[in-house]
Amino acid sequence: MLVLQKYGGSSVADLDRIRACADRCVATAEAGNDLVVVVSAMKGETNRLIGMANALVEHAPADADRGPYVTAAKRSVDHDRELDQLVATGEKVSAALLAMAIGDRGGRAVSLAGHQLGMTTDRTFTRAKITDISEQRIRSELEEGRVVVCAGFQGTDARGDITTLGRGGSDTSAVALAAALGADVCEILTDVDGVYTTDPRIVPRARKVLAMSYDEMLELASLGAKVLQIRSVAFAKKYGVRVHVRSSLHEGPGTMIVPADEVARLRGQNGKQPMEAIEVSGVALQRDEAKVTLVDVPDVPGVIAEVFGALGSAGVSVDMILQNASRNDRTDITFTVAEADLESATTVLTGLRPGGEELTLATDRAIAKISVVGLGLRSHAEVAAKAFGVLAADNVNVQMVSNSELKMSVVVHERYGELALRSLHTAFGLDAPSR
Ligand code: ASP
Ligand code: MG
Repeated sequence: MLVLQKYGGSSVADLDRIRACADRCVATAEAGNDLVVVVSAMKGETNRLIGMANALVEHAPADADRGPYVTAAKRSVDHDRELDQLVATGEKVSAALLAMAIGDRGGRAVSLAGHQLGMTTDRTFTRAKITDISEQRIRSELEEGRVVVCAGFQGTDARGDITTLGRGGSDTSAVALAAALGADVCEILTDVDGVYTTDPRIVPRARKVLAMSYDEMLELASLGAKVLQIRSVAFAKKYGVRVHVRSSLHEGPGTMIVPADEVARLRGQNGKQPMEAIEVSGVALQRDEAKVTLVDVPDVPGVIAEVFGALGSAGVSVDMILQNASRNDRTDITFTVAEADLESATTVLTGLRPGGEELTLATDRAIAKISVVGLGLRSHAEVAAKAFGVLAADNVNVQMVSNSELKMSVVVHERYGELALRSLHTAFGLDAPSR
C-alpha cells in the first residue's frame, strides 16, 4: 500500500512526540508500505513566528499623521511574501527533525520542503492555491526505499518564491499529495480520536463517528469543527481521497471520510452502531452570530437587492435570511451575520435609503445557532418536525429556521443554546451508550 500520514502540530510538539511519530513511521514502513509523511510546524510555532512579524510591523504604534507604520512597511516590502518566507520555516524544522528521528530508529528517510516537493501554487501569499503537483522526486525517493517527510503548508509559485496555503494548510498539503500520488489512504494523525457528533466539552456524551461523507464533513467544518481545514475536505471530495482522521497516540480506528455510498456500508459493518432511521451525523452550536432585523421596509422590487448588495460590497457575509409575508406592501427582513461584522453591517445599513427611506434596524447579539447535519435530511421531512418538537418540550422559542439538503439550522436565544444542543443530540440518537 501507499500510505500518506499527516502529523499535526501537537503530534510533533516536542522531541519525545517526534520520536513517537518516528516509531509509528518506521512500523508503517516495516509492514511493507510505501510511506509519505506530511508534517505541521511544532505546536505554537506558527503563532510564535506570526507574533514576531506582528510585533515588528502590524502593532507598531500608530502615528496620528502618518497612520500605522504597516502602511509604510507594506509599500516598500511585500509583507505577505516575507510572512510566507517566515512561517514556512516552521514546517521545515519539524520535517528535518522527523527524518533524523526516523534515521535514529534505523529507518531510511529524507525530508523535502518548498520547491523540492514539486508543489506549485499561484502567487496569493498567505493563502495560495495549488496549481500543480509533480511527484517525480517523491516517487524516486520512495523507489529507493525512503520514507519521504514533506514539510506541509507550503509550495512555491512559478517564480520559485515560497508560498503558504493558509492556516491549517498542512491538511490540504496532505490530501493534495495523496491525490497526486494515488495513495490508498490519507491518514490525518491528530490529538483527538476522530470526528465527534458534537463538541464533547459541551455534550459529554458526544461520540466518535465511524464514517462520514465529504459533504457532511464540509458542513461540519464550516460550522466550526476544527479537525480539518475546509479546503482539504473539498479537495478530498474532488479527487475521491479516502481520509482517515485518527489519533497519533494509539492505533485505534478514527473517522473515515469517504463518498456517501461508502458511508452506509461502513456504518452497517459495525454491529455497535446500527444504521439509524434518520441519519444525522452531527449537531453544532455557534454563538458568534448576531441577528439584524430591518423593521417595516417597503416591499418593492430592488430593496432587498440594494441591502444585500451593499453588505456584500462591504465584505460582510450574511448567513440566514428571512423575509416575512408583507402587509400593505411593507415587510420585515431578518438576517444573521458574524458578530464581528455587526458593526460594519450597521454602518453600511444606516447609510442606505432603499426605496427612498431610511432603514429602522433592530440588532440582537444574544442568539445561538444550532445546526443538525446529515445525509438523512435529504429524504426525511420529519427531521424538522422532530427538532421543533424537542425544542418545544424544552420551552425553547425558535426565532429563525433554515433548511437545506444536508443541514437544518435554528436560531434561539443564546441562553438556551447549550440546552438545545444537548436535547437535539439525544433526540437524534447521537448520544454515546452510557457506561
Ligand atoms: N502550521 C500551520 C498553521 O498552524 C499549518 C498547519 O499546521 O496546518 O496554520
Ligand atoms: Mg490543524
